[in-house]
Amino acid sequence: MNWDAIVIGLGGVGSSALHAFARRGLRVLGLEARGIAHALGSSHGQTRLWRRGYYEHPDYVPLVDAALRGWRALEAETGARLVEPVELLQIGPPSGSLVQGTRRSAAEHGVAVEELEAREVQRRYRGALRVPDGMQALSERGAHLLWVERCVATAVAAAERAGARVQSDAEVRSWRAEGAGFAVETTRGTEHSGALAIAAGPWAGTLLRELGAKLDVRRKPVFWFEREAGAAPLPALFVEQEDASSYYAFPLPGGALAKAAEHSGGDPVADPSRVARDELPHDRAGVRAFLERIAPGWRGVEAGFEVCLYTLSPDGHFFVDRHPEHARLAFAAGLSGHGFKFSPALGELLAGLALGESQVARPPFLALR
Ligand SMILES: Cc1cc2nc3c(=O)[nH]c(=O)nc-3n(C[C@H](O)[C@H](O)[C@H](O)COP(=O)(O)OP(=O)(O)OC[C@H]3O[C@@H](n4cnc5c(N)ncnc54)[C@H](O)[C@@H]3O)c2cc1C
Repeated sequence: MNWDAIVIGLGGVGSSALHAFARRGLRVLGLEARGIAHALGSSHGQTRLWRRGYYEHPDYVPLVDAALRGWRALEAETGARLVEPVELLQIGPPSGSLVQGTRRSAAEHGVAVEELEAREVQRRYRGALRVPDGMQALSERGAHLLWVERCVATAVAAAERAGARVQSDAEVRSWRAEGAGFAVETTRGTEHSGALAIAAGPWAGTLLRELGAKLDVRRKPVFWFEREAGAAPLPALFVEQEDASSYYAFPLPGGALAKAAEHSGGDPVADPSRVARDELPHDRAGVRAFLERIAPGWRGVEAGFEVCLYTLSPDGHFFVDRHPEHARLAFAAGLSGHGFKFSPALGELLAGLALGESQVARPPFLALR
């Protein structure tokens, strides 16, 4: 056995898992098919939102709190600035899942969320944001933005300083159980380990095919805008519309840029290694209509375009579990377009699960199903 543990995939979750194994003083190898903090998977595009009023399920709140402690600890350990405070304004129909779910999480976990009248939103943001008739606005002042590529690169560098080894441009072709551990075939050779963590993002379906988990990869176009000089500062915005489509727009901390995209929808992707990376004719209509309707202050000049990938589970909740036949193999998959903020907590969970640590508490609703 040449390694105590191997981590496959060093994106958001895998970089944190590598650090979690290395912190335990173990001999750990990270295998990444591409470069570190590359722009072909799910962890790129400058920023990710961290929020606490978790509309998807209240049981995410303790995990999201643990994750923020993890990001803060990584900042303290490395001196890197990873997290920026931001106000989050969420807008949706009062009976919709966004407003109902946020209120439920806020009530169960004491999240500070303020209900705002449409007129108050108009006044606060000097007309740059509009709440359509019949919609409710909720403000969470304690949200944050994460510098996504810096988070990944910092976690990998911290893991290496703690003794981890990293191979980039090393694609895993297959893994198999071997004695009490695993053999992992890569484009560079075969590695052997006692424990294995798989965090392959959009490519997880190939490495975990035998589990039969349904993973639906989607192409997500993202647009950047230059805001006019002197424009009023805006909060991060997340909107559920009456037809259940959802969109978001985030300001870039300290700069004139903002980005916007659709959270719902997205073209299905058959092979995550072959995705159209340029803008397609149907990419912009939805985002443009959303901004015109709700955030006229965000339009400005288009300043960039990028494609990112979501990996959806059937119910939108993550799969974080041990392999049913190999207790020393843990995986995270199907993060469904909202997983990055959790990376330090998920990395810690993967390490704990793969090492059989009894104190690991994975929320039951994230089990393989
Ligand atoms: C546009 C967009 C906006 C988002 N906004 C938010 C947000 O605001 N907040 C939030 O919390 N989340 C958000 N998400 C979701 C979040 O970014 C993802 O859930 C998260 O980044 C997924 O991380 P991951 O580690 O699973 O995947 P990735 O970061 O893609 O990492 C997987 C890694 O595994 C590697 N790999 C795959 N197969 C192999 C192999 N065979 N051998 C070796 N390496 C391999 C890949 O190269 C890749 O580096 C957003 C996602 C997108 C696309």
